[in-house]
Amino acid sequence: MKILLAISEVHPFSKTGGLADMAGALGKALAHAGHEVRIVTPLYRGIREKFPAMRRVEWQFNLPLGAKWEQGNLWALELEKGLTVYFIEHPGFFDRPGIYQENNISYADNAARFIFFSKCVAQLARYSPWRPDVVHVHDWQSALVPVLMLHQKRAEGWGNPPPTCLTIHNLAYQGIFPAGAFALTNLPAEFFTPDGAEFYKQLNCLKAGIVFADAITTVSPRYAREITTESLGCGLDDRLRQRRKQLFGILNGVDYGEWNTTKNSFLPHAYTVTRLAGKAANKLALQKELGLPQRKDAPLFGTISRLAEQKGVDIELGALEEMLSSDIQFILLGSGSSVFERGYQKLAKRFPDKVAVRVGYDEGLAHRIEAACDFYLMPSQFEPCGLNQMYSLRYGTVPVVRATGGLDDSVIDFTQDTMRANGIKFQEYSARALAKGIRKALAIYGQPELFRRFRQNAMRADFSWEQTVGEYLRAYDAAKVFSAGQDSQTAGRVP
Ligand code: ADP
Repeated sequence: MKILLAISEVHPFSKTGGLADMAGALGKALAHAGHEVRIVTPLYRGIREKFPAMRRVEWQFNLPLGAKWEQGNLWALELEKGLTVYFIEHPGFFDRPGIYQENNISYADNAARFIFFSKCVAQLARYSPWRPDVVHVHDWQSALVPVLMLHQKRAEGWGNPPPTCLTIHNLAYQGIFPAGAFALTNLPAEFFTPDGAEFYKQLNCLKAGIVFADAITTVSPRYAREITTESLGCGLDDRLRQRRKQLFGILNGVDYGEWNTTKNSFLPHAYTVTRLAGKAANKLALQKELGLPQRKDAPLFGTISRLAEQKGVDIELGALEEMLSSDIQFILLGSGSSVFERGYQKLAKRFPDKVAVRVGYDEGLAHRIEAACDFYLMPSQFEPCGLNQMYSLRYGTVPVVRATGGLDDSVIDFTQDTMRANGIKFQEYSARALAKGIRKALAIYGQPELFRRFRQNAMRADFSWEQTVGEYLRAYDAAKVFSAGQDSQTAGRVP
């Protein structure tokens, strides 16, 4: 199958979160399964210098963007057999210090930037001699692609365009812009209605994708159910309920080629489930690196996160406040809201022997924290999938998570299965409930046999992408069936 993946960030070229990890890993896994994959993404600042093997493709974009015309170039890098990444070059839009924002402020022209990107994707899908069998778009930044393609089919005679699939990585980010931004799509007004791209008189890019994509996936089965409810539907639950038959929850996999404890240049000491001495050595090394007392016996907790409300940082600060009177250590790596950054930094100042905080983004340190800690805290308010709890499992770092979205789908609590338990879950969104989870962790830590079992179960859990690929192929099939069904209805999808 020929699959075109359109996504606004791809590891190792650009990354702000799990979206980038998923794009790179899904592309690789599909290619390993024998499919032909092309990923298309913007050419952000610095990528070309880091990947000099990239070559310019003879292809020029010249596309209307409202009343103006915008030009772009195309670059390509073959990553491995069956997997090529296309980069859209438009220096005005993408050669900037940030991907979506700078100093916590979104770029004012994000609508223009990503509508242009979406138009480039639709054009590639239509005119590239390599004709994709499916176009798979991700999140609001490329969610307009299905409607752009539908319009080209209806009004411009694009016979038989490939079916489209939209993956929602986080429903909370919808790409909502003032109504005037709709003009940048150059679509007819009939698409800007409450049954189309309009959301309370504004343009909502993700909603357009939900209405017009042939199939929709999200990144865990539980989150797929949650987003059809009013409490987690972010105002789009009714639209998602309408598309329930084409909505699939597929848990993200982990790229174990990157996230492993045996062949990993970020880790000072390798270890395996049967040889855990390296894990203890990593703990001592990280305590030293971050200026904490080197104590083998002190239970070490960690978090690596965007510091946003979604991630439960407020209840984490509350729970730590309560729990730091116990003999524990805690390490945080994160960046985001300055209020939260300051909150953690204050905690580190008050408890210099117990708390180490690093504000910033550091891939190597993220691996070292996962490898060194005994427990990983992830108390998210909501969590579409979450990757760090799965990385923690593989690194033998027992996750303490709130039972929501992908966290609930990937962690097994003692109350669910005493023999297979690999983590601790709590339900209520409160500092007290998290503190109770931490107390349970300490109780388990105090029983070496039990702790060993949790750790072994964790390290043996398997979230490899190979298992996940089949589920995406089923979603692509569903997209094909839905699109064919739409064709057979004379009216088609009326927006
Ligand atoms: P989200 O996509 O909502 O941010 P995920 O858990 O799905 O959350 O993915 C987060 C990814 O970003 C993980 O790979 C995590 O290790 C990484 N990450 C987050 N913050 C940092 C940071 N400050 N430094 C390094 N990696 C980080």
